This record gives sequence, C-alpha cells and structure tokens, in this order.
Amino acid sequence: LIELRDVNKYYGELHVLRDINLTVGTGEVVVVIGPSGSGKSTLCRTINRLEDIHSGTVAFDGRPLPAEGRALARLRAEVGMVFQSFNLFAHRTVLQNVSLAQVKVRRRGRGEADRRSRELLDRVGLLAHADKYPVQLSGGQQQRVAIARALAMEPKALLFDEPTSALDPEMINEVLEVMRQLARDGMTMVVVTHEMGFARASAHRVVFMADGGIVEDRAPEEFFTSPRSERAKDFLSKIL
Ligand code: ATP
Ligand code: MG
Repeated sequence: LIELRDVNKYYGELHVLRDINLTVGTGEVVVVIGPSGSGKSTLCRTINRLEDIHSGTVAFDGRPLPAEGRALARLRAEVGMVFQSFNLFAHRTVLQNVSLAQVKVRRRGRGEADRRSRELLDRVGLLAHADKYPVQLSGGQQQRVAIARALAMEPKALLFDEPTSALDPEMINEVLEVMRQLARDGMTMVVVTHEMGFARASAHRVVFMADGGIVEDRAPEEFFTSPRSERAKDFLSKIL
C-alpha cells in the first residue's frame, strides 16, 4: 500500500533521509523507532507529502504521490495523520472537530457527518463527551478525539507520530488501547513511538532508524531479542 524507493531528502546540508526503502502492505502495522533527530517524523511526513523529497519515489496504493490539487487533498484524506500535539480546533466541540472535515473534504451532509462522528466517538469511548470543548478533556481523551477525526475520513492508512509522548502516564494506555484495536481491525498503520509494549504486541515489523537511514527492519520479537546493529543495541539498552 505504501512504497518508498531510494528516498533521499536534505534540509540544507543535513541529509535527513538516506536511501530509504520501505514497503508497508495493506493491514500491516509498522513501528518506527530510533534516536531523536534520526528522521522518524520526516519519514512519516513524507508519506502524505507534507514534505518534499529530493530523489527517489513514494507511492501510495500503486500510484506516485500527487504533487498538488484535488489529488493531493484526496491522498491526505486517505492517509490520516495523528500527531503528538492533538491539533484539535479549540473553538469547536468534540463532535464538530470530528465532523468538520467530513463535510468539507468528504462532502457529507451535516446530519450524515454527525451521525458518523457519534459512531466513531463511541468507538473511542467518548460519546458522552461529544458536546464538550477540547479544553474540557484530558490529554488522553483529546488524542482519542484526534484519532476519531482521522478515522472519519475513512483512511486507507494511518500515520502516528509519537501519539502518546505528550500524555501523562496514566493516559497513555487508553490511547494505546484504541490503537491496538485498530491494529486488530486490520488498519494499515505506521507508528512512531517509544512504547515498546505496543510494538511487541501489535507491530508486524519494527523499523529502526539512525542518522536518516533504516538500520533494521524486522519482526519485533527478533529485533528486541537479537538486534543486529550496534546502534540498535545501544538504543535499546537506553530505553528498555
Ligand atoms: P524526534 O525523536 O526528536 O522527534 P525525529 O527522529 O522525528 O526526532 P526529525 O524530526 O525527522 O527527527 O528530524 C530529523 C533531522 O532533521 C533533525 O536533525 C532535525 O533537526 C532536522 N529537521 C527537522 N525538520 C527540519 C526543518 N524544517 N528544517 C531544518 N531541519 C529540520
Ligand atoms: Mg519526531
């Protein structure tokens, strides 16, 4: 479903993505880990073309990423993204946050959009909070709204960039549980996270990045029990 071939990207002199080759099949869950600055966020943003690349190709659903216009808007709807900071609209209710893009991008009627939003809020355990404003919710609840909002676009894949990093420890699990359920339901997911429990339980593959390159790309049990590279061994010894 997602295919990156020999992708390179620079920020000025900095070679931020080096010869990236990565394939994510439909229904696959890939966890991306690696030290700060290794290019994990940039990789994620490359997949829905929030970032331009300098060489190589990125394809989604068998087609190169569109550069602009309606095709790009469609791509962004098909590849949902959930960030560390939830980016909810502060002056809209929870329900409106989930409904807005459905009306604007998917061109659903208000009633149809709200009906779907309620279904999705129920799915992430927040139906009772539909009429509240984001500020009235905990961080974990806000992040679950952000996930519901992404799901409302009926994406073919979801990208998560450290979705639990900004949360207090007691709220991490409620977000991870929603993500685990999505994984079980067969959603295609690329997840940048330091939650190794999630990687072990839900990932099909772990991609370890360092200095802009992919150093290892393996099944979680292999990666965690016998990392091949010194970089990965060193990284794991610091976080586990
Ligand atoms: P973290 O774990 O801290 O989130 P990361 O692996 O997500 O790190 P990236 O955010 O992808 O890393 O950044 C990779 C490198 O590119 C870093 O050295 C960063 O400073 C640099 N970088 C990121 N965005 C920009 C930008 N807009 N302009 C210049 N350099 C950037
Ligand atoms: Mg990052």
